[in-house]
Amino acid sequence: MSHRNTAAKLPEHILIFPLPLQGHVNSMLHLAELLSLSGLHVTMLLSEYTHGRLLRHGNLHSRFSRYSGFRIATIEDGLPADHPRVGERIMDIVLSLKEVGGSLFRNLMESTDALSDGGARRRVSCLIMDGEIIDAGEVPLKGKDEDKMTYWKRKEMDLMVTSIPGMEGLIRRRDIGGFCRVDDINDTGFQTIKTETKRTTTAKALILNTFEDLEGPIIDQIRKHIPNLYSIGPLHAHLKARLELKGIESSNHSSSFWEEDRSCMAWLNSQPENSVLYVNFGSVTLLTKDELLEFWYGLVNSGQRFLWVIRPDSIVENDGNEVPIELDEGTKARGYMLEWVPQREVLAHRAIGVFFTHSGWNSTLESICIGIPMLCWAYFADQTTNSRFISEVWKMGFDIKDTCDRILIEKMVREIMEVRRNEFLERARFMATMAKKTISEGGDSYSNLDRLIEFLKSTII
Ligand code: UDP
Repeated sequence: MSHRNTAAKLPEHILIFPLPLQGHVNSMLHLAELLSLSGLHVTMLLSEYTHGRLLRHGNLHSRFSRYSGFRIATIEDGLPADHPRVGERIMDIVLSLKEVGGSLFRNLMESTDALSDGGARRRVSCLIMDGEIIDAGEVPLKGKDEDKMTYWKRKEMDLMVTSIPGMEGLIRRRDIGGFCRVDDINDTGFQTIKTETKRTTTAKALILNTFEDLEGPIIDQIRKHIPNLYSIGPLHAHLKARLELKGIESSNHSSSFWEEDRSCMAWLNSQPENSVLYVNFGSVTLLTKDELLEFWYGLVNSGQRFLWVIRPDSIVENDGNEVPIELDEGTKARGYMLEWVPQREVLAHRAIGVFFTHSGWNSTLESICIGIPMLCWAYFADQTTNSRFISEVWKMGFDIKDTCDRILIEKMVREIMEVRRNEFLERARFMATMAKKTISEGGDSYSNLDRLIEFLKSTII
């Protein structure tokens, strides 16, 4: 039998290439598992750095061992191993992948057998990439929409923005994504995002980790540019639902880049219901020592119980001075601090009352699915828009934006924990119901995923 005939009987083979950051890798792994579950062959392309972190702290291989068509391939991100991949420096990863990734990637795609296991799998039939690194795929750029993407200078920040279709009357200048809020049109971040966004419109399809009931008017606007659009989120919950439908237990898998410290679960078990403020600013946020102290005083002075996760590499300009005694004592009395946790499990714990979040998109979706109100602080990028939507559109909490002031934090923590929690909880529970509906049989995300799989089965690049 010829190789061609054998290959024709094999499932389509999808290559998935996420931006090598924790949040992006998490959601792309959910997508990879959803596609594997539907019988497609999937190769997950990870940066060597990311793969190393996952091998050390996650359990990727046992999670995917049930899918015979799943493989991992790795690629250099072009940065030295000790390059900081946090804060504003994450842009270096995007630029470097663009620089070195393109040719490595092309070689990988062109070498027939590298990804096809010598005939056990077809050649890659479709490539799924994160929007931010679509450049590394060397997708041809068509002259379309180039000058429509605009930027806003950092002044008169309270002016309402009326020119973004689908968001009219909802956001102010200060809520615009950080990459589009720059003082100079030549800003590297802005130019990179602009190019990547333009390239996105040349893709054959767009997959979004959101759902119609959450962002319908905005998705409709994007659909005008890319009609072949699939909103299939929230991915983590969608995966769990699909596994359950097939009678597969969704084990507590970890794709963490840091070691998960489970000691907080015992501490949470000993706390009253809904009494704890869970504080976590995600995988790339950086805080100066001064900002750290503002948050810390705010939390301790609020008199509320708190579980605060501070990544080991997240504090910059640390002067090494001792922590003031009142913070130490306040934390011992009502707080628990650690470096990294299994976040979705923590959010689901009955002791958690409110999530104090940096408004990263995955954290936002995870909180929505559990129905937990949020106190939002935004560090950068899309977080400034997410936090606005959480407070003003979905009305699930407060947005303190990028303010980092102990008096304000104390006030907002008290207000949300003691006064407004029930009101926000009602909305949060409503949004959680919506999220559940969309991933259930007949729901929008559910149907969209089925359509996506059909599309992938019929598409050859
Ligand atoms: N996360 C986690 N444990 C932590 C902190 C974060 O498992 O202690 C996970 C979290 O559940 C989410 C991801 O890391 O899936 C962070 O992604 P997000 O988009 O919220 O923020 P980013 O880290 O990209 O800024």
